[in-house]
Amino acid sequence: MTENVRVRFAPSPTGNLHIGGARTAIYNWAFARRHGGAFILRIDDTDPERSTAENTRAILSALRWLGLDWDEGPEAGGSHGPYFQTERAPSYAAALERLRAAGALYPCFCAAEDLAAKRDAARAAGASSGYDRACRDIDPETAAARIARGDQHAWRLRVPLDRGDITFVDAVRGESTFTSEVMDDFIVARSDGSPTYNFATVIDDVEMGISHVIRGDDHLSNTPRQILVFEALGAPVPTFAHLSMIRGADGKRLSKRHGAASVEEYRDLGILPEALVNYLALLGWSLDDRTTIIDGKTLQESFSLDRVSKNPAVFDHEKLEWMNGVYLRELSPDAFVERMVPFLVTAGLLSPDAAADSREQLLELVPLLAERVKRLDEVPPLVHYLFTDTVVIDESAREKVLRKPGAAEALDAAADVLDRLGEFTPSTVEEALRSVPEAIGHKPKVVFQAVRVAISGSTVSLPLFESVAILGKPRALDRIRRARAACQG
Ligand code: GLU
Repeated sequence: MTENVRVRFAPSPTGNLHIGGARTAIYNWAFARRHGGAFILRIDDTDPERSTAENTRAILSALRWLGLDWDEGPEAGGSHGPYFQTERAPSYAAALERLRAAGALYPCFCAAEDLAAKRDAARAAGASSGYDRACRDIDPETAAARIARGDQHAWRLRVPLDRGDITFVDAVRGESTFTSEVMDDFIVARSDGSPTYNFATVIDDVEMGISHVIRGDDHLSNTPRQILVFEALGAPVPTFAHLSMIRGADGKRLSKRHGAASVEEYRDLGILPEALVNYLALLGWSLDDRTTIIDGKTLQESFSLDRVSKNPAVFDHEKLEWMNGVYLRELSPDAFVERMVPFLVTAGLLSPDAAADSREQLLELVPLLAERVKRLDEVPPLVHYLFTDTVVIDESAREKVLRKPGAAEALDAAADVLDRLGEFTPSTVEEALRSVPEAIGHKPKVVFQAVRVAISGSTVSLPLFESVAILGKPRALDRIRRARAACQG
């Protein structure tokens, strides 16, 4: 690789990090790592109404959570900054001045209403609705005089009339051609002096030495305009790679309507970052035609643009959850506990200070949970009864189990055998409880369901003997006796 690879992820901080943006970031990051290049984070915060510092913070933290470290950008620094577009005004002004001096721009005095009216008329006539270049030929002195007089004006790029079609080879989509007719002399700076997106982004890409622009294909139609700006600046045009969008199962662009659509939401559902990176990496890219589980290291070693699909990818929640289950089961018990604690804390089952003291107890839960959950947010409801002093027995469990014949005897006998235990472990508990059905002449199911409802409040719980042992003798006996009282009511 002779080329110096420098790529950027350039989110607009108008919301949280969307799943599609996360995938774009992953591809940029993996591409940079694969080629020993630089991954740059740039914040496109030029929309003053929708960009917030809070959103920027959320995006940075989502990227960090995913494990995508950037070499240059906010908080990382770098020699090509600043990395916020709002801090780059001097660069835009200098580029504007340079192009103006070179005659590559011209001022446009057309009023917005006139432009809109012309556009509508052209559309109605079935003609091209681009700018009609009305101001292109105003002679320079007249233009200068009008500017001096304070006439409102924008600046447009003077696209060479003989430029011809604009063709580029997209690393994902192959050759794309845009006819020069659709390239009107677009605005690069608005009447308030602010640069347009197509102008600012190119100045940034040039000054940051970007070699490959890897981004969503919603920017495909901007690309020919951006190429014209690169050309006007006399700068080399980077390689473009446009990623097809991610769709929901209904074929529409993935959005809130399809459920969780941001990285934060998946984090809060208890999807592991490594599972989300794996899933998104393979949503549009493949290592080969078999591999479904690929770790970050392999991704960094093997990512290539030529295996990125140009077809839209469909987001499949079930597959993501399946993959997350695979990652959860691979965690060491210690790591599982570490990942699960924040969920217990959020659910109010554990105070952050108590987490260290409860470690042993939490470790006991891991083998019971790892096979049962696909997301960490499923943990609190499953273990709730192990973390509270008393349980509330749900009404249907009371009706279906405790009010049935045999339940009262079962609970009396269970309390009795458990009370006599010295060592209180899953196996001693099991042995003791297995003796009860025969002793009282009821089916095992009657006994075990009654004990289960007594200790968990519900007919579904983690495995019974382990649960009783984890609760410990005093709490288990207390619950069984309370439930016993409910049997008579
Ligand atoms: N800020 C733009 C966006 O969030 C990306 C610009 C680009 O990648 O060129 O869509």
